[in-house]
Amino acid sequence: MIPFNFEYYKPSTITGAVEAFQTAHDLGQHTVYYSGGTEFITFARTNKLHADVVIDLKGIPECKALELDENDLIIGTGVSLNKISESGLFPLLGETVKRIADHTSRNKITLGGNLNSQLMYREGILPLLLADAKVKIAGKDTPVALDKVFHHEITLEPSAFLAQIIVDQSYLKLPFSTMKRTRFSKVGYPVATVAALMKDEELRIAFSGVCEFPFRSADVEAILNDTSMPAENRIEEAITYFPAPLVHDMHASAEYRRFVLKNLMTETLHALEAAK
Ligand SMILES: Cc1cc2nc3c(=O)[nH]c(=O)nc-3n(C[C@H](O)[C@H](O)[C@H](O)COP(=O)(O)OP(=O)(O)OC[C@H]3O[C@@H](n4cnc5c(N)ncnc54)[C@H](O)[C@@H]3O)c2cc1C
Repeated sequence: MIPFNFEYYKPSTITGAVEAFQTAHDLGQHTVYYSGGTEFITFARTNKLHADVVIDLKGIPECKALELDENDLIIGTGVSLNKISESGLFPLLGETVKRIADHTSRNKITLGGNLNSQLMYREGILPLLLADAKVKIAGKDTPVALDKVFHHEITLEPSAFLAQIIVDQSYLKLPFSTMKRTRFSKVGYPVATVAALMKDEELRIAFSGVCEFPFRSADVEAILNDTSMPAENRIEEAITYFPAPLVHDMHASAEYRRFVLKNLMTETLHALEAAK
């Protein structure tokens, strides 16, 4: 049971959602956006979160879109992870999000919720960073590059939300690899997830679970693409350029994470360099 009362709104337009948020916010009410709701409900039940007003984004048609236009794939942030995988439209994204949670939870968890999760994993962002995705932010006319709003986490103005993700179609069928290792079962938080794709014979690679935020790094990619060195040396050196220390927590020690990470990076290089 959720131990507090809140007002619930389900607007049918982007403008209506922003206006509802702004009105409540101006009245001093703590207001949150809600997409799949799984994180909201879990955190509210355990008193890790409180809200006076909840604005459900699932009634907004743009947030439910999943379609190809002339040049791009458009993914509404209210689309469930299962729908994305089942569509087969962007296999790297589909395969990556297919390893998040269990099948029943993935019917509810949305891409927007995953990208804005308070947990450190946000695995759905890896393919989007690799594909130079753009985002449509509520209230803004023009889409912006994802890396303009993603600095360790997605940061938006309080009343703004992510409405759509836009991926240029030229990225959809490039050679890719996506691998996840958990502590015990197939379903679980990642000890390490490594997603990669090959574009113009250059490896692009992004990580989740290893540092306290998901990331893609130009330094790491430059080292891994320097094929004058053996793969083992490239991987050792690339890890020294990670933007933060390896996580050491109840799921895995930093040493174990390093071991798993090196294996995944070796497998990734092996798979994608063979595809060159
Ligand atoms: C069983 C289970 C296992 C999990 N395992 C993993 C895992 O292995 N890897 C992983 O990455 N994650 C994992 N998660 C975390 C999950 O991806 C997040 O909790 C995610 O936030 C849930 O999505 P939702 O749509 O239900 O989010 P919601 O509860 O609706 O929202 C989550 C947060 O995102 C914000 N938000 C939602 N939509 C938007 C938007 N469009 N714009 C801006 N902010 C928005 C909300 O305000 C809220 O703060 C797991 C979750 C569960 C339940």
